[in-house]
Formats: sequence, structure tokens, C-alpha cells
Amino acid sequence: MINRKLVAVLAIAMLAVVLAACGDDAATTTTGGATTTAAQGMIIGVSWNNYNEERWAKWDEPDMKAAIEAAGGTYISTDAGSSEAKQATDVEQLIAQGADALIILAQNGTAILPSVQAALDEGIPVIAYDRLIEDARALYITFDNVEVGRMQARAVFAVAPTGNYVFIKGNSADANADFLFEGQMEVLQAAIDSGAIVNVGESYTDNWLPSVAQTNMEQFLTQNNNDVQAVVASNDGTAGGVITALAAQGLAGIVPVSGQDGDAAALNRVALGTQTVSVWKDARELGKAAGEAAVALASGTALGDLPGTVMFTSPGGNQMVSILLTPVPITKDNLQLVIDATWITVETLCQGVTAGTVDVCG
Ligand code: BGC
Repeated sequence: MINRKLVAVLAIAMLAVVLAACGDDAATTTTGGATTTAAQGMIIGVSWNNYNEERWAKWDEPDMKAAIEAAGGTYISTDAGSSEAKQATDVEQLIAQGADALIILAQNGTAILPSVQAALDEGIPVIAYDRLIEDARALYITFDNVEVGRMQARAVFAVAPTGNYVFIKGNSADANADFLFEGQMEVLQAAIDSGAIVNVGESYTDNWLPSVAQTNMEQFLTQNNNDVQAVVASNDGTAGGVITALAAQGLAGIVPVSGQDGDAAALNRVALGTQTVSVWKDARELGKAAGEAAVALASGTALGDLPGTVMFTSPGGNQMVSILLTPVPITKDNLQLVIDATWITVETLCQGVTAGTVDVCG
């Protein structure tokens, strides 16, 4: 027979736990004039589209998680494995698990819209992480992607001011692919118009896959009888595929190639001379900014009251409250920067590099 008294005591104890958790949700304390918002019990749900590129698990995620936990929140996450359908169910699952705010790295910025709208309609704040989601109620946190594209084109153009250019663009469902290309074109359009450079091949890269970039590059080389003087590749992964294709034709280190992310392998290629530039985005900063913003939003801070925001007009005409971080182009001349930032060790950076060819490698 059930002991009624015990049941009653347990019920009261459980209620106390629930009340304590609710009460602590957004405790604001003032210490020495500074007001900080603690988020005990806040759950931040993070939906990653995949972990294919090195940056997400190695740099973005740890600092995001640390920022959330430092504020007393809990980090929960899902991995959509490059499937937009799975990402939709992932977001539902994160909401069902009690997420008080969502951070979404969208596989497909359009396909994810209904999930984002559903969350926002329920009053769950959403952060479009790194990649744009066209909903003005979401916070947009990213690096200046048009500027990344400009930096890629500038570095390649400095080496090859004339000749045949190939453009290896990103995944078409990722708004960044077009932002990057926009920046690249801004820098190169005048030279294209004058005929100094010619666009002899341009393709998106499904899911940013290096293998796809390699196949596309092989085809462009074949179509042009290897008469290619420069490749503007949109990230380090695709640059890797491109350089493999170039190497097979004896052109690695001769044809300039761009990238972005500061992948260890790419920085090593910059030191080796097979990649011209990797636009470095300190993804630790982005992860931290998103973690902090998620906690603030979950605790009731209004979008417009977040510190450090600017307005960004999206291609769809949305005025997005945004946090835009600044990228830095890394070439063989400033490799010291990534060493000083403890982003890479000299040993990894300089693997296989001939002594005397690059300052930092001795
Ligand atoms: C990011 C890049 C990344 C690419 C593939 C883009 O949206 O901005 O940093 O390399 O996705 O993950």
C-alpha cells in the first residue's frame, strides 16, 4: 500500500526543486557597478549542420559551450549530418528538450525557415550562427563574409593580375557562398571588364565537399588545357581539393589559390607555398559571442539591447540585428599571427617546410 504521507512529502520536494530552478532562471546581480545576468537552469540548444570542416568542433563549439556554462546555462546540441530534413527534426527535438534559446548553423538557409519561425512564434529566441537565416526576429552572428571574399580575391589578384581565373564557390544553399562571391567580384570586376582576367570556370560546391571541389577543378583544367593562372576557392576544404587537382598537373605552388578558416592543413600549405591565403576567422570569438548572446536572449534581454550589435540589410531586405566580426587574411608573410594566437603550433605549421623559405619556420 502506498504511503500517502511519503507521496505528499515527495511532491512538495519536487515542487521546491522546480520552483528553485525557475526562480534562478535569470538572476541579475550587481557587482562593483557591473550588472551581470546569470542564467542558472537556462538550456541553450545548438543545431549544427555537420562537423565536416575542422573549425566547428575544434574552435566554434568549445568556446560557445564554455560561455554558456560560465553563465550557468546548459549546452545541448544536435548534428544534422548535412541533412536539411534532419535539421528540422533536430530543432524540434531541441525545443522538446526545453531549449530556452537556439543557435542554428543552417544547412539550408531557406529550408530551415519554418523551424525558425515556429521557434520564434513560441517565444524562443534564435541565433543565425555564421550563416544567414532570413528572419528579422533572429540575431545574426557571423564574420563579414563579403570582406572574406574581398580578401581572398585581393591575395590571389596580387599574385596573378592577369590570366584565366577559376571560381570554386561554396554550397549554394549557404548564403555565405554568394556573399563570398560578391566580395570576390567586387575586387576583380574591373579586371574582368578590361579583359585582364577571364572567368574560365565557376561552380558551386555541394556541401562544400573537398572531393567535389577537386572533381570540378579537374574538369576546369581539362576544359582549359591546364591554362589556368588563378583559383579563387571559397574555403580551406575546397582549396585542399583544388590543390590536389593542381598537383596532379604539376601546377601546385605555381597557380595561386585562396581559402578561409585557418584549417591546420591550409596554414601548412600557406607555409609550403601551395596555398596563397587562408582568411582567418577566429571562430573561438564567434562561438563565445553566440554563447553569451544566447544566454542573454534566453534571460529576456531584447535583441536591440544586446551589446555590440549593428544593423545588417540582408539580400531578402530584412534589417537584421547583427554581430559582425572581422576576418584577417593569413599569407606566408604574417603566419606569426596564428602562432601568437595559439591557433597552431610552429611544429604543425612548418611540417615539411624547407628551412629558410618562410620566416616563422626558421
Ligand atoms: C563558413 C565557412 C566554412 C563553410 C563550410 C561557411 O558558411 O562561413 O567558414 O568553411 O561554411 O563549413
